[in-house]
Amino acid sequence: MTDPQPAEGIVAIASQSIDLLLTGKPDVKNRHGSGSIRPSLVIFTYRQTGVLAQLFGAWVRDDGELTEAPCDQQYRVDTDDWPDWLAELAIEHHPRSIRAVLLREAADECDDAGAAYTARALNDHAGGAFALMETFLRKANEAEYVATPCDFVACEPGGEPCSTHERLMAHAEGEHELCGAECPAVQQPKGA
Ligand SMILES: [Zn+2]
Ligand SMILES: [Zn+2]
Repeated sequence: MTDPQPAEGIVAIASQSIDLLLTGKPDVKNRHGSGSIRPSLVIFTYRQTGVLAQLFGAWVRDDGELTEAPCDQQYRVDTDDWPDWLAELAIEHHPRSIRAVLLREAADECDDAGAAYTARALNDHAGGAFALMETFLRKANEAEYVATPCDFVACEPGGEPCSTHERLMAHAEGEHELCGAECPAVQQPKGA
């Protein structure tokens, strides 16, 4: 066997993880027995296949009494029912969500520059700035699309997108019928 070695080694990120300390989050049902868990720490591990959460806390008895007993459980993408707040935290801290925020900030800077050039009638410069803004916005939408987990009925590989990704795709293309209140276009309709 003479498998040719690539000229340069390839390095790819297989997973990234973050540990978050939690206070004031609602108790979650203990899946391994009675009672619930008072959350104190979550470790999110982001992989190509989705995000995994390991939630740690103290065990709360059925009668509501908090104990010192440590307790933890895992949430897998697609298979487990995630509390809403945990799912939202996972999206917020996804490495690519952070990327989407940075790309949107860059787009805003380009928008400001375009407006400043327009005010000075430098139309070529303004056009360049607005074109760059569009590029950054497109990349931000792509980053957000990849960072957002599927709905309970997941995307078919190479086929129909799930409802979450269908909405994000339409939103990126400027159609907001499926968008909720979190979409700026829903709050302030364009051209209104
Ligand atoms: Zn999907
Ligand atoms: Zn939208």
